[in-house]
Order: sequence, then C-alpha cells, then structure tokens
Amino acid sequence: MQRATIVGAGVFGSWIAHALKERGWKITLVDQHGPANARASSGGETRIIRAAYGRLAIYSQWARESLPSWLELEDRVGQQLFVKTGALFLSGGGAWLEDTAATLEANTIRTEWIPRRDFSRRFPQLQDAGTSDALFEPDAGVLFARRAVQALVATLADDGIRIVQAQADAKTLIEESDDEVIVFAVGAWLPSLLPEVLGDGIMPTRQEVFFFGTPPGDARFGPDQMPAWVAFDDGIYGLPDLEHRGVKVAFDAHGPPADPETMDRSVDAASIARVREVLQRHLPALAGAPLLETRVCQYENTADGHLLLDQLPGQDRVWIAGGGSGHGFKHGPAIGRYMADMIETRRDPEPAFQLAGRPPRQRAVY
Ligand SMILES: Cc1cc2nc3c(=O)[nH]c(=O)nc-3n(C[C@H](O)[C@H](O)[C@H](O)COP(=O)(O)OP(=O)(O)OC[C@H]3O[C@@H](n4cnc5c(N)ncnc54)[C@H](O)[C@@H]3O)c2cc1C
Repeated sequence: MQRATIVGAGVFGSWIAHALKERGWKITLVDQHGPANARASSGGETRIIRAAYGRLAIYSQWARESLPSWLELEDRVGQQLFVKTGALFLSGGGAWLEDTAATLEANTIRTEWIPRRDFSRRFPQLQDAGTSDALFEPDAGVLFARRAVQALVATLADDGIRIVQAQADAKTLIEESDDEVIVFAVGAWLPSLLPEVLGDGIMPTRQEVFFFGTPPGDARFGPDQMPAWVAFDDGIYGLPDLEHRGVKVAFDAHGPPADPETMDRSVDAASIARVREVLQRHLPALAGAPLLETRVCQYENTADGHLLLDQLPGQDRVWIAGGGSGHGFKHGPAIGRYMADMIETRRDPEPAFQLAGRPPRQRAVY
C-alpha cells in the first residue's frame, strides 16, 4: 500500500488526506497545534464560498466542484457546515464584475445584475456608494470553517487515518522517511519550515476580523435576508449574523507582515474606528453597534495571489500545498483531488500553481 505523511491539518492538508485515503493510501496527518486550531487560517469561524473570480475560470470551477463535497461532509457528520446566503459584489472592481458575469455564464453558474434603482429595496440593510449595478451570485454562501475542518478530520480518524499532534521538522522528516510521500500543507508556516525554498515565496500578513451586534428585534441582518457581500471601493467584505454571533466585517487589503506562531492577536482602538468609518458607508445601521468579538488571523500570500501546489525542487516524493492568499478555503475538496492526481501521476501543476516563475511584485487574486 502507498503511504503518505501530510504535515498540517488545515483545510488543505485535511482534504489532501481525504483524497489520498479515497484512493487507498495509508495516511498519517500531523499538526503541531491540532486540526483547524486558533492560530491556523482554517481555524476562523466562517469563510465565503463563491464562484465569482473575475476571469479566473479555474477557481470558479473549483468552487463549484467543491461545494457538493462540503455538502456530502455535512450529511455524513450531521452538522450544518454551509449556509446559502448568496454573495453580492459591489462596484469599484474595474472590469471585475463584467468579467465575472461572463465567466460564470460560460460555466453555467447563475448570476443576477441588481440595478441601482432596486438595490435598497432588495438589500435594505446594505448601502452601495458606487455608481454601477451590483452583481449577485445566488448560490454562493458561507462555510463554518473551523467546524467543517474539525468534522472532516474526525471522519478521517474514523476511517483509520492516524492523526498525530507533533511538530514536524522538514529536514528530519525527509531524511528519516524512506519511500513514502510527504506533503507540507502548513499555510503561513511554509516560509519558516522551508526557508531556503519559500523564505520569500509566501508572505504571511496580519488580518483583523470584527463581529458587530445587530439592533434588538431587527431581523434584517440574518442569513435569510442579508447576503455575504464585498465592496471593492473600500476593500471590505462582510457576512450576515450567523448563529447570532454578530455581523462579520473585515478588510481584504493585506495587513502588516505576521508571524502565525507569536503575533499579537488583539485589536487596537484605531482599527475599530477605521472599520466603523467604513460601516457608516455600507451598513449605516451598524456604524455605532457594539463590537461583540474580534479575531486576528493571517493570510499566507503568494506574490501573485495564486495557490502554490507543486513539488519541492529536487525532491520527487515531497510536495507543497499552500498559498491560500485570503481565498483558499472554499477550494479545499478540489485542492485535495488535484494534489492526489499530481502525486499519483507525477504530472506538473498548471503554470499558475507552480513555485517557479512567480512575478516579483505582490498582487492579489479576487
Ligand atoms: C481573515 C481571513 C478571511 C478569509 N476569508 C476567506 C473566505 O472568505 N473564503 C475563502 O475561501 N478563503 C478565505 N480565507 C483563506 C483561507 O482561510 C486560507 O487560505 C486557508 O484556510 C489556508 O489553509 P491551509 O490549510 O493552507 O493553512 P492553515 O489552516 O493555516 O493550516 C496550516 C496548519 O499547519 C500546522 N503546522 C504548521 N507548521 C507545522 C509543523 N512544523 N508541524 C506540524 N504542523 C504544522 C499549523 O498548526 C496549522 O494547523 C481567509 C483567511 C483569513 C485569515
């Protein structure tokens, strides 16, 4: 039987473990702090799943292919992991809205233009300061991230995968393992685990997330009335009041460099004032709302925002999976299958996912 050790039980490592297990592999899944822990990018409460990606059709297709796998997991574990809220994209993205509409139409994924005159009637809690129509993806929604990854890992354990809490050292693991495959799926820890290869290849940044309380008796912010939304003008996005934990709001712009192991995860008054200022423009009813909770997480950015799914140079049985760059969570099931295919067939990844040939300047994928 073929064997693999997968290091990192975030969304990437866990779905890779799942895909290889489905193909009959014997797997060990290792995480230093446990699956979807509070430091991991996959340890957040919620993540948006949408197929809207401008012209980047591969991500639209992966998001669409991934949703049924999330729903199968939901069925298997008997817990809610997905809420269909729809996702609304507000102006300011240049040609991004038009490109998205064209890509999704070509892939038979539903979208709807919301004319400006209808906006406040359709979404009375949201305000759009822009001048163009908004684009709505009705089948998009939100995944309960930490819950979903921990549920997945529980099913892996039930299916006989060995789950180990330990800190892996890359050099030792590669030297001491004989013929087994090794996958490093350690998110923002990739640069410190593989400094010679990825010291500059992944740039972890500090990202703050805010949960605001809704007014008493006001149901407009619940998931049946309010979609997930992205306002490109202000680089901000938000989610409805899920499980009554508050409306989530966060900036997508890259924050300062972050160390996922040791960074300060508290939020200061200046950040709170900044987010309230933007709320005034997009969710005016919540601009003065009580702040219920904050979280600080990290993006693990590649230079161009594309995922990194490739072999470690010079090591034909060692693989890297990471570079989620603020948008990777939704694709977990597709990434698992893609990696399993590459590992079994030894074929090269798409140019976009390769380690070599990344542009020198930092950009983002939306
Ligand atoms: C605030 C925020 C909002 C986001 N919003 C979205 C969204 O709406 N939609 C979306 O699709 N994506 C979103 N993302 C991105 C998404 O969450 C990440 O791309 C994804 O979770 C990355 O998963 P991962 O498995 O690569 O890394 P992680 O989840 O960080 O997992 C890496 C794991 O490796 C372990 N590890 C590290 N070093 C070692 C070692 N030496 N030995 C053993 N274990 C080790 C860590 O403990 C950790 O558990 C968001 C991210 C953030 C931070």
